[in-house]
Amino acid sequence: MTSEKKDLTRRDFVKTVGLAGLAVAGAGATGALAAPEQQGAAPKAAVMPKRKLGKTGAEVSILNLGGMFDTINNQLLLRQALKWGVTFWDTAESYGNGLSEEGMGRFFARNPGSRQEIFLVTKLQAKGGNLTERLDKCLKRLQTDQVDLFFIHAISGIGEMTPAIRDWAAEMKKAGKFKYFGFSTHTNMEDCLLGAAKLDWIDAVMMTYNFQVMATPKMREAVDACGKSGVGLIAMKSMAGRPGPAKVASEAKSELVDRFLQRGFTDKQAKLKIIWENPQIASICSQMPNLTILSANVAAALDRTKLAREDFDSLNRYALETRTDYCAGCGSICQEAAGGAVPVSEVMRCLMYHRYYGEPELAKLTFADLPEEVRRRLTEMDYSRAEEACPRRLAIAALMRQAAEVLV
Ligand code: SF4
Repeated sequence: MTSEKKDLTRRDFVKTVGLAGLAVAGAGATGALAAPEQQGAAPKAAVMPKRKLGKTGAEVSILNLGGMFDTINNQLLLRQALKWGVTFWDTAESYGNGLSEEGMGRFFARNPGSRQEIFLVTKLQAKGGNLTERLDKCLKRLQTDQVDLFFIHAISGIGEMTPAIRDWAAEMKKAGKFKYFGFSTHTNMEDCLLGAAKLDWIDAVMMTYNFQVMATPKMREAVDACGKSGVGLIAMKSMAGRPGPAKVASEAKSELVDRFLQRGFTDKQAKLKIIWENPQIASICSQMPNLTILSANVAAALDRTKLAREDFDSLNRYALETRTDYCAGCGSICQEAAGGAVPVSEVMRCLMYHRYYGEPELAKLTFADLPEEVRRRLTEMDYSRAEEACPRRLAIAALMRQAAEVLV
């Protein structure tokens, strides 16, 4: 078979892999569905690959179902995710004000035995009242006695992992409310990871990690440090969504799309695959609110094609060309330059939910979590120093004005 024909066959596989074509066995083993030409006439049943989550030793599916969607009215999607081997599920108190947990809980109740198949994560922000009482409510909504992993939600500095939090986590582990403990972070991720690597009571971290940020020396150092100390790593925000309109001409995007279609993937699948190329990342948490996205992501997880050097180059070139469209979460830089009053990168994340995810309600809810003082003063601040300091030259003042318009 010529290489061109091989490519076409693989492309046909990835593009046409449908609901029936993904014959995925349940949880347990590792491996991936090879392209049909490698297996003969019919694809065999395949299993979703799993990786160890750091020192926890737990084996988790490399694709994690992000629960930031209406799980109550998407029970069939939850069932299909489980059927296709996406057995790592992620939710939080704040997703739909508990409704995401509620939907997963209803699924476990309606499907006896399903809870045992799922490696389940939930999260709570440290602020917002008594943690134990709120955790109990999470467990009640999830209709389970214990989650496998619990995160303090969205920290922006390792200082938030206080001795009081450490002691509380130990107490909750002892009480059997969760097995493993860690945090999630979208802001100052590298510093948070470097800090986590020094704390032996942090089992796992979920952090923003994608083609825009993965190659910087500091992120490499931080990921390596966690790898060495056994902190399990879960990537999120894998598509590197932008907070504002694209500033960069669409040729860069067209070139990327064309290249990967020739290789048999969509550009979105390629953005997942480049993350999985790093064995230090146990799983990618991805929002998959419909079957189209779920099936495309599962196909990407099952496909064994290794990215070529040119694929990395192509994504790196695209990252460079779109650099000024993306907020990299280095919030300490702009927040400090703006006088410390506004968590600029948090507002950027809300804008990203609004613009890139097309989730205005989620964007508004996340924005509403910020202190009232911050929301009120958003357009009063002088952002000129922050814009000068921003390594990506984002138009911070204009974006904050847009945030005030669309997020209130
Ligand atoms: S606005 Fe700039 S400095 Fe601030 S977090 Fe985003 S990329 Fe970093």
